[in-house]
Amino acid sequence: MISFREISDSLLHLFFPHICSGCGSDMLNKESNLCMRCIERLPATGFEIQADNPVEKKFWGRMPLQYGMAQYYFTPQSLLQHLMH
Ligand SMILES: [Zn+2]
Repeated sequence: MISFREISDSLLHLFFPHICSGCGSDMLNKESNLCMRCIERLPATGFEIQADNPVEKKFWGRMPLQYGMAQYYFTPQSLLQHLMH
């Protein structure tokens, strides 16, 4: 049996589809701005589990810093640049 909530969600999705910010595909998940395929395409650094990672080393001696990291690698013309713009 289809609930009123499912019907109203389907109608809302028909007129206001939830589109992935990365690839423009139609998404059912309203909780994220990216589809799973785009999330998997983002080049993660893994720096969050690496002490003395390259981001921290960039700031050594330049400013007091307890911890630094980058979540993703940045490359020109990439999905990440598209998302930032
Ligand atoms: Zn996508």
